[in-house]
Amino acid sequence: MKLLIVEDHQELNALLCRHLERIGFAVDAVSTGRKALHAIAMGDYDAMLLDLGLPDIDGMEVLEQCQKIGKRIPCILLTARDALESRLAGLNGGADDYVLKPFEMTELEARLRAVLRRAQAVHQQKLSLGNVAFETESRFATVNGKQVDLLRREAMLLEEMLKVWPRITVKERLEEHLYASRESVTLNAVEALVSRLRRKLREGGADVQIDTVRGIGYRMVLPVETGANA
Ligand code: CA
Repeated sequence: MKLLIVEDHQELNALLCRHLERIGFAVDAVSTGRKALHAIAMGDYDAMLLDLGLPDIDGMEVLEQCQKIGKRIPCILLTARDALESRLAGLNGGADDYVLKPFEMTELEARLRAVLRRAQAVHQQKLSLGNVAFETESRFATVNGKQVDLLRREAMLLEEMLKVWPRITVKERLEEHLYASRESVTLNAVEALVSRLRRKLREGGADVQIDTVRGIGYRMVLPVETGANA
């Protein structure tokens, strides 16, 4: 899942980035309202952490602009303004929650997960196909109930593929979704990542496989679908 952090306090911005990446999100971070609007217009985010007091345009204005361009992104306001009115204005203005500064990362994380859960009513906690399962919160992958050790990005790939199934996971979309925009990514990197996941699933005894759809991307396939053993 990909997050946008909009925070002009550099240390806090960096801290949020580090923490959220460590717990498994792809993160883009900007420090002004205008850059945020640009990122929102171009990108595809599952949620946004938005500071209210930004150097150029106010966080509330960012939210309003989002609504004008029809981009509804689950949003948590980060604010030092603890006046009741600004919190209410924020929530009425399209934010899903707010966190008062200073805050604990654990609190922010809990709020973020709650917002993501609410935003994706259909979003399952446990994704599975065949004997492969993935828990979106704990980031645990299992094959036949036995844990398979996946690196952060491999877990993100598995999550994405399970979510998209039975559709094809488009390669360019993987690039967009698994890597922060500042990272330069080659399609080879995606291919290498897919190979590693494929190998780990196979070694773990998975009954699903990842097929390459030439020129488009990848698709998870159940053994009955391959027809190989028929
Ligand atoms: Ca600020």
